[in-house]
Amino acid sequence: MLEPATQREQVTLAVLPQGASLAVVVPPGLVGVPIYRGPGWVDYLCGQCGTVLCHGVSRGMFVSLAFACRCGAVNALR
Ligand SMILES: [Zn+2]
Repeated sequence: MLEPATQREQVTLAVLPQGASLAVVVPPGLVGVPIYRGPGWVDYLCGQCGTVLCHGVSRGMFVSLAFACRCGAVNALR
């Protein structure tokens, strides 16, 4: 059975090339702990390993930030 009222959206982030210059890179969180937790319905996943980097964001948040994952990838919204 589907549960449309509580359906979460998972967004896989784009992995940035090595050396990409960005204004802000958020460092990796503790192991197993998303960098950000909030009340929204969208999760941001690492584009390389699938780790949840941000849990419960609202659509359109963090468009200008990049997120470093502990796997070594730096991720950003497409
Ligand atoms: Zn990763």
